[in-house]
Amino acid sequence: MKLYTKISIGLMAGVVVGIGVNLTAWEFGANVVAAIENFGIGWIRLITMVVIPLVVASLVVGAASLGDLRSVGRVGGKTVAYYLITTSVAVSIGLILSNVIKPGSGLSEASRQGLLAEYGGEAAGRIDLAQQAPGIVELLLNMIPRNPISAAANTEMLPLILFSILFGIAATTIREDRRKAVLGFFEGVNDISMQLIRWIMVLAPYAVFVLIAGVTARFGFEILQSLLWYTGTVAFGLLLHAFGTFSFILKFLARLNPLEFFRRIRNAQLLGFSTSSSSATLPVTIQIAEENLGVSKKIASFVLPLGATVNMDGTALYQGVAVMFIAQVFGIELSLFAQLTVVLTATLASIGAAGVPSAGIITLTIVLVQAGVPETGIALILGVDRILDMLRTSVNITGDLTGTVLIAQTEGESLDLSQRLETKESVGAA
Ligand code: ASP
Repeated sequence: MKLYTKISIGLMAGVVVGIGVNLTAWEFGANVVAAIENFGIGWIRLITMVVIPLVVASLVVGAASLGDLRSVGRVGGKTVAYYLITTSVAVSIGLILSNVIKPGSGLSEASRQGLLAEYGGEAAGRIDLAQQAPGIVELLLNMIPRNPISAAANTEMLPLILFSILFGIAATTIREDRRKAVLGFFEGVNDISMQLIRWIMVLAPYAVFVLIAGVTARFGFEILQSLLWYTGTVAFGLLLHAFGTFSFILKFLARLNPLEFFRRIRNAQLLGFSTSSSSATLPVTIQIAEENLGVSKKIASFVLPLGATVNMDGTALYQGVAVMFIAQVFGIELSLFAQLTVVLTATLASIGAAGVPSAGIITLTIVLVQAGVPETGIALILGVDRILDMLRTSVNITGDLTGTVLIAQTEGESLDLSQRLETKESVGAA
């Protein structure tokens, strides 16, 4: 049986078990689900364990094969342009849908009061976290590591990416025997990391089962009902962006068959969905780009770690809808100008969000403040945040992979998705 089928079965079984426990409020079942969920948490740690060695090794090797600062600058420029444009499109989709559907007008006064009372305390905690966020100058300064080892130890991706790229480029300028030794070492680390991922992926179906069972067992289905319009608007927008915007880019700009593309990346999407974390999924995303899509290491290693950290179309789209929803519930009219500002702030807020669960709702506070919408309003949407987090993370990852193939094509890589996949080793073997 293919890995994808196994993961899908794990996911569906998890949903069935979780919903069963949830709806019957079966205490013993809930305890068992909570206990086995630890297996899933351990598994996420296992893949996260490979992130740093894989990103450093593949970036050093990748940057060395890009060769010089000019090529890095060109690829970097394209990457950043792609990220900014697609993210702004995503927010715009969220805003347009919210204007048309008006999800906030469907919330009853009783539900509003109930949600504010129930989630007010938790919301205050998130707002505090957002207030500790660094300013823009500090953010830029923080991209330069004082010490690459401590950046690696604290999983600070942007400084680590900067260091690895400079290290890789500098490596091309030194004496050949030494260069070969250093690059050979990193090539080895890269291959070993990929092998570890293949092993870890064998456990993916079981991990997905317990993670999904845990999430659904705890989920508040009653809240879903009162927030149905909001949840539906975000979900519809995400689907539109994932299958509309990205299909357009794939077909007309990258000249690749979108359906075949989606088929080849579906394991990464499923893992993004199950873990709610672009960063935890990163090793699998890199492997899928190289092995299933045929993207070179020099492009994949550059575009994907950056994407997992800064490119979050799903998050930005969700923030667009959330701002409008909260404004509508509080009866605040957002002018066209205010909404255009939201495009900018949500793009920046999604860049600032880390690739970990619930990061998007923390940086949402920044967008709310800018738009003059009470930030306490996040209490209204906290109850359904997890399910939307799962969806938006899948979209974030799809955006990263779409960008990778587009940039690879524009760099002359001539990808060909009509070739059959080498199924025996590949994690994403579709
Ligand atoms: N969980 C998302 C991610 O990792 C970020 C978010 O909360 O929107 O991509």
